[in-house]
Amino acid sequence: MIIKLKNEITLSQEKSFRQLLVDKRIEVIPTVAGNQKLFVVVGRFGELSKREIRAHPLVATILEVDRPYKLASKLARRQKTVVHLNGVKIGSNETVIMAGPCSVETKSLINEIAKGVKSAGCQILRGGAYKPRTGPYDFQGLGKIGLHFLKEAAINSGLKVITEIMDIRDIELVEKYTDIFQVGTRNMQNYPLLRELGKSRKPVLLKRGMWATYKELLLAAEYILLGGNEKVILCERGIRTHVPETRFTLDLNAVAYLKHESHLPVIVDPSHGTGRANLVRAMSRAAIAAGADGLLIETHIDPRKSFSDADQTISIQELKKLVKEIKNVAHAIGRS
Ligand code: PEP
Ligand code: MN
Repeated sequence: MIIKLKNEITLSQEKSFRQLLVDKRIEVIPTVAGNQKLFVVVGRFGELSKREIRAHPLVATILEVDRPYKLASKLARRQKTVVHLNGVKIGSNETVIMAGPCSVETKSLINEIAKGVKSAGCQILRGGAYKPRTGPYDFQGLGKIGLHFLKEAAINSGLKVITEIMDIRDIELVEKYTDIFQVGTRNMQNYPLLRELGKSRKPVLLKRGMWATYKELLLAAEYILLGGNEKVILCERGIRTHVPETRFTLDLNAVAYLKHESHLPVIVDPSHGTGRANLVRAMSRAAIAAGADGLLIETHIDPRKSFSDADQTISIQELKKLVKEIKNVAHAIGRS
């Protein structure tokens, strides 16, 4: 249950209403969605009936959301969430493509890749400066200087930036360089990180844990939304299965399910989802056909020389083909 408060109420009215609810054993968490003040009701209803709450003079309306996640549910918000980034609209009718290397490697390479990404028709440059690597001896990313190279390359080519955030202590720094925070699969349930990102007003692309259910993903998104950050983008990036031929199994059920259940945009990452460069184009087409709002693709000038994820990284020529094919699929289903 979500209680929508009237917009014009004062802070002291809000406080006294909350106290009234507490006295009646109704526990709520106050939050905002845009300018809308909300009380999210936690657990059971106490000693006031729904009808009595609805009739309270400070209440605009109440929304019944019979899901463990509330704000992420379509029952809380009927219209689709569209994340606006200065002209790029994620979750609208247009398909958005984010592409770039797994890791930012050198200044000249990221610049060259950015030019290629732009000329292919993509809107956002990806690249990790802080990398979550399986082993501590693997390349861990360039850190701050990598953020700098990435941002500069994006500006030079007229692209927006997405990069991964792993540590709460880096939020302030990364926020200065990025347009979208990427939360990786390994951090989907890093609740302190999610809560902190809820305080930011920059968009967050939240990758599904490689083990996680849809409910767990939506509950992770709920942590960010509850902080008042409405700009959450969900991302399917493949899950662990028994199949040894691909690195992960790209679960396109997730796209259809999440679109059905939530108002949040859904992006697909077929690079990690397959782990194989020669499968990326086919699964990109399938993702768009399934209703994804966009793609996150690993690309490089010389994929085999990538510092990380070389096997799944496609060339710029391949990216160009991919974008053309995606446009055709998008048109076929009435999108652009
Ligand atoms: C990445 O995008 O390079 C990455 C590390 O992704 P994931 O968290 O999905 O493994
Ligand atoms: Mn990668």
